[in-house]
Amino acid sequence: MRRIVDIGRRIELIPIDPHFHDITIGLYHQQIFDETTGKDIPVFLVHTYSQIAGAPERIEEVIQSMQTLGGMLKTTEGLLYFPCKNVHEAACRRVFLEACKLAPNNPAETRPLNILDKKSQLTITVDSAGAGIYQVTANDEGRGAARRISAIAGGLMKLGEMEDIKTDNKDTISFACGQSHDALIGLLLIRAPNVRVVLREEEMDATRGVLSAPSQQT
Ligand SMILES: [Zn+2]
Repeated sequence: MRRIVDIGRRIELIPIDPHFHDITIGLYHQQIFDETTGKDIPVFLVHTYSQIAGAPERIEEVIQSMQTLGGMLKTTEGLLYFPCKNVHEAACRRVFLEACKLAPNNPAETRPLNILDKKSQLTITVDSAGAGIYQVTANDEGRGAARRISAIAGGLMKLGEMEDIKTDNKDTISFACGQSHDALIGLLLIRAPNVRVVLREEEMDATRGVLSAPSQQT
């Protein structure tokens, strides 16, 4: 008989992992006691119910990719958390989804803090100003740069649950924890230019996930 363990609240799901026998992989949110701070801190568990040989290795691979892509740390039990020990749940869900997209044996790499914005053909750069504050800039002032900068800053804000630092150019955002998350910003920057499309896709995936995921998995 299998022991039922409370593994936490599921916050994201890959119903079918195309890279490993179509297994279902879930991301779960838990709280654990942290001795350093003397407080409960949020941690994340990557889990599959699949019994297929090699599944634990696939899960380990996703965890490692998440550490690289999101700048996350791992407890001795293999639970993931951010160095600031804040939750950043939406951002963590993105890190998980991107990590699962990577094909096996294709090690994750930390993303740079700049990207070519296809819509404007501008190179968009995000600079850390410290204390969790980031400013979005472009390599040119023309080509609707101001509009794209504020759109991309807005995209980062939505994807990373960041806060708006009220500047005239709407180009500066910050993490409420007041700490830098460079790897995370690099990762979120990939999707930030298309944030509307991304959020629509996620809504559809969530609906599909509910339909296709084996029930009673929590
Ligand atoms: Zn943080």
